Amino acid sequence: MSARENIVVNNVDQPVTTDWHALDNEAVLTQLNSSEKKGLSQSEVLTRQQNYGLNRLPAPPKKSLLQRFLLQFHNILIYVLMAAGVTTAILNHWIDTAVIAAVVIVNAIIGVVQEGKAEKALDAIRNMLSHQAMVKRDGAFVTTPAEQLVPGDIVTLQSGDKIPADIRLVNVHDLRVDEAILTGESLPNEKHDQAMSSSTVVADRANMAYSGTLVTYGHAVGVVVATGEHTEIGRINKMLSDVETLETPLIREVDQLAKWLTFAVIILASFTFMFGVWVHDYSPAEMFLAAVGLAVAAIPEGLPAIMTITLAIGVQQMAKRSAVIRRLPAVETLGSVSIICSDKTGTLTRNEMTVRNIQLPQQAFEVTGSGYDPHGSFQNEGQEVDCDQTPALQELVRAVLLCNDATLIQKEGAWQLAGDPTEGALITLAMKAGLDPNFEKEEYPRTDIIPFESEHRFMATLHHDHKGHAVVYLKGAPERVLEMCQWQRHEGCAQAIDQQYWLNKMQEMAAQGQRVLAIASKAVPVEHIELNFDDVGNDLCLLGLVAMIDPPREEATAAVKLCHTAGIRVKMITGDHVETAKSIGAQMGIGDGTKALTGVEIERLSDEQLQKVVLETDVFARTSPEHKLRLVTALQATGRVVAMTGDGVNDAPALRRADVGIAMGINGTEVSKEAAEMVLADDNFATIARAVEEGRTVYDNLKKAILFILPTNAGEALSILAAILLGKMLPITPVQILWVNMITAVTLALALAFEPAEKNVMSRPPRDPKAPLLSGFLVWRSLFVGLILVTGTFGLFLWYREAGASLEYARTIAVNTLVMFEIFYLFSTRYFLDSVVNKAGIFGNRIALYAIGVLLVFQMLFTYTAPMQSLFSTTAISLSDWALILLVSSSVFVIVELEKLFLRSRQK
Ligand code: ADP
Ligand code: MG
Repeated sequence: MSARENIVVNNVDQPVTTDWHALDNEAVLTQLNSSEKKGLSQSEVLTRQQNYGLNRLPAPPKKSLLQRFLLQFHNILIYVLMAAGVTTAILNHWIDTAVIAAVVIVNAIIGVVQEGKAEKALDAIRNMLSHQAMVKRDGAFVTTPAEQLVPGDIVTLQSGDKIPADIRLVNVHDLRVDEAILTGESLPNEKHDQAMSSSTVVADRANMAYSGTLVTYGHAVGVVVATGEHTEIGRINKMLSDVETLETPLIREVDQLAKWLTFAVIILASFTFMFGVWVHDYSPAEMFLAAVGLAVAAIPEGLPAIMTITLAIGVQQMAKRSAVIRRLPAVETLGSVSIICSDKTGTLTRNEMTVRNIQLPQQAFEVTGSGYDPHGSFQNEGQEVDCDQTPALQELVRAVLLCNDATLIQKEGAWQLAGDPTEGALITLAMKAGLDPNFEKEEYPRTDIIPFESEHRFMATLHHDHKGHAVVYLKGAPERVLEMCQWQRHEGCAQAIDQQYWLNKMQEMAAQGQRVLAIASKAVPVEHIELNFDDVGNDLCLLGLVAMIDPPREEATAAVKLCHTAGIRVKMITGDHVETAKSIGAQMGIGDGTKALTGVEIERLSDEQLQKVVLETDVFARTSPEHKLRLVTALQATGRVVAMTGDGVNDAPALRRADVGIAMGINGTEVSKEAAEMVLADDNFATIARAVEEGRTVYDNLKKAILFILPTNAGEALSILAAILLGKMLPITPVQILWVNMITAVTLALALAFEPAEKNVMSRPPRDPKAPLLSGFLVWRSLFVGLILVTGTFGLFLWYREAGASLEYARTIAVNTLVMFEIFYLFSTRYFLDSVVNKAGIFGNRIALYAIGVLLVFQMLFTYTAPMQSLFSTTAISLSDWALILLVSSSVFVIVELEKLFLRSRQK
């Protein structure tokens, strides 16, 4: 307990306690020197922040630089190299020993730097998902980063929140909390605000809410008692990292492939060693070095690192475009997504609601004005109406103003909304009618609330005025509200409701794509101070309907089209009315404007039936989160790879179930973010389409890296193998091979990680998720290009030797030929099948051009400077040699481009 004791906040003479659950509410607040009404003052918060630090857990211990450096040596190839280094030392080949040692060290340094880069990219993303809390400061609730909380802060918790610190609950309204991360218990725990016995164990402290756990239902107010590492979660020191390690199915597959290849190569090298010694009578020492050269040539040691970097760059690119990846495998999965199920409100539409129409029992009104700006008027058949003279209208706007949690603030002339846009629109409406939100709230203080949840689709509040009246106001989805109404308002009194009349009106309004809410009220006895579902009953009086527009986002409409060309079906799943959904869908190219399925209809279908209709229907309306789960499951059963958006607490199961669960960064709950693979920083559908594009590009680039590295390694290995089998001198020495591999891995192969998307990324169908990595094409390309490389490199070597060149000279030619081959092949690899003989093909990847520049400088040093010449046994070659090298090495470009031409024609 000692760790927690230092954080207890109290005056020196107050008793020290950590048993917050055992104190009564008053005592907790006094001890923490706080008040539920006022919260802490800003200056007090600053003092406490100084005393107790920020509310965050220390970062998980990172490996030290030295540790990370040493870890680079834990690799079969490095072991082989170190063995080779020792052997060369025993043989007194000191230069070779030095070169091998240098390569091993440089390699480790490069590894550390690359890893660091990749990790930095991920860290930056982690910070994008900061966590907010609603806290009372100086008497008013404000949102602040959870990091800023101090003991004594009064915070509100509501359904969907992640609890920001350890909190003693002082006012609970049906709160349920999922404490699985703390207790392992997956069923949510019911909370209350009564003191408990001091012997209660943490898991049973029902009046406490612990940092990191999730609110699944209800709301509450509580006081922070512990922050940062002094919280329970901090104490048990369980780190909750948001982004995992750099691993995805593809990377695992490639790691596996690399291991397997390494193993095969070592066996091959051993056989080669024996073959050389027995058949060609090479000396074992010489043969050993040749075998090491072969191993170095054939093992694709750079591959895993390149893959990691490519992935990290992809994740970073996505983050720049507002798509924050929480689980890395999603990057790959995005590339194979064939169906995107999206929310309507806010994701496909702008979520900038404006009330346009009001329907009362006898009259209809149009409302003018735009956005949240409360300037506008009410018109009835073209005639301006004075709200003060229209009591029925006045009552309705008062109801929507009071049954409301949003606030509008004017900042630098612009009106800004805090809260739900639907409710913001209603405040604007009330202000247009001349009501003052603050005045009304004072006049009719709220006693209780049933908050809006997408399950029950309404919200109700209870108000007591100062004259001894009590009234319930309720607003929600019209069908739902109508069920609860027995009356409708008529000239100040209630008359029996005409259900059909209202259903028709609602249908009309919704068919124009408007979001419709029904408003009702009921007077209750003044003793009534709590509001429960049962109190609402079915004898409410309907005040009228309010319809608001929420225009489609233009960029989302374009993105839907883009998805369609990319072979991806877009489906809308909304809680809104079916007519509204169909109309908005039709405007955006989702569905045909006639076909739609409602939640009720979904419920009537069996799983098998659902699997059939789900493919034909694109619009799903009046759905609840359970329907989402059934829809994803049905789609997946048909073999589709499904991305699904969600924002509420209850969307979490569907998000988890989807192949790519997508949460909303702005309007989404913490619970949904926690369940999601990806978070949209801008809540925008267009961002999903961009992420898919980026996902496809990353996957392409990963494949391109393989397509580049495997054939070049094959070429190098075959050159050495051929020499040994034919009993010739090695065209390239082991240390030269080391040089080539090291220098091309950090230049050429890395450049492919920065490859921009091919122009057809979004015009071809999604990748088949079951397609194997080692495709026939890849094997063919490796052998085919390997053969070109060995013919050119070994061929030129033999040719120069025949012409009487020295061994050094012929080898220098061979090494430069090999490097030039790789440069030319890099260009061809940039596009899988498209020709690169055009401006974009040659100049499109600037990084590749820089990389080639750097590589050429290194080759010049390698060929023409004395120290390098003595290290690598090279020698200066002439300009005409270079001409010949270029001629030979460019052949790979010509041949591979012809191969692609052939493949393209066959594809057609
Ligand atoms: P969506 O899929 O459009 O986000 P929601 O689940 O948010 O759907 O809303 C479903 C329905 O609930 C809406 O059509 C509306 O009638 C009603 N509704 C939405 N927000 C509120 C609210 N704040 N108060 C009362 N009713 C609401
Ligand atoms: Mg919504």
